[in-house]
Amino acid sequence: MTVEKTTILIVEDEPAIVELVSFTLRAAGWHPVAVHTAGDAWDFIGRRMPQLILLDWMLPDQTGLRLLARIRGDRQFNDLPIIMLTAKSMEEDKIAGLDHGADDYVTKPFSPRELTARINALLRRKTPEHAQTVMRAGSVQLDPVSCSVSLDQQKIDIGHAEFKLLKFFLAHPERVFSRSQLLDRVWGDHVMIEERTVDVHVLRLRKALKQAEHLIKTVRSVGYMLSEK
Ligand code: CA
Repeated sequence: MTVEKTTILIVEDEPAIVELVSFTLRAAGWHPVAVHTAGDAWDFIGRRMPQLILLDWMLPDQTGLRLLARIRGDRQFNDLPIIMLTAKSMEEDKIAGLDHGADDYVTKPFSPRELTARINALLRRKTPEHAQTVMRAGSVQLDPVSCSVSLDQQKIDIGHAEFKLLKFFLAHPERVFSRSQLLDRVWGDHVMIEERTVDVHVLRLRKALKQAEHLIKTVRSVGYMLSEK
């Protein structure tokens, strides 16, 4: 099964770091894209919104801090998770980054494990459906890295759309979502599908989950939720 992966934009001009970070992200199950200047980063996010940005402090055309301020100044990018990559460990620099709207920072040199952990922590906080960590509810377990779902440790067959839907529900348990919210957040708002389609996928998801189908609840006249209660 192929699932579109979470895109992480690396804004970094040092080839060795780009290579290391790309390798680390790919191994963790994300889709890395690298640009080398602030200008290219701005062009990229205008065309396609990544799910997270790793932003170097010192870039050839302008500082990462300026780009950060520009991104945060634009309403459509307000919520974009951003981690600053910095060789600077000076306290005032960290504070400047956080003041300009960075969500977190990682000081070079960093270990691949630390970077992966920081990214997962930030994604879990902001958009948990993009974190690459195993998610569970009852007897159901979803592994985003291998794109597999198991029920009592037995792998089950699940369609692409149902996988995405289940991942979203698992990332936001005990919360009700309307059909239009699910369309926006699971399929993306540029996808033209009818709200009725959501019902079809929920039906298929329940079927795939067999004895665990009760996890997906219908909330009358509102929508759906995942609940263990
Ligand atoms: Ca640099």
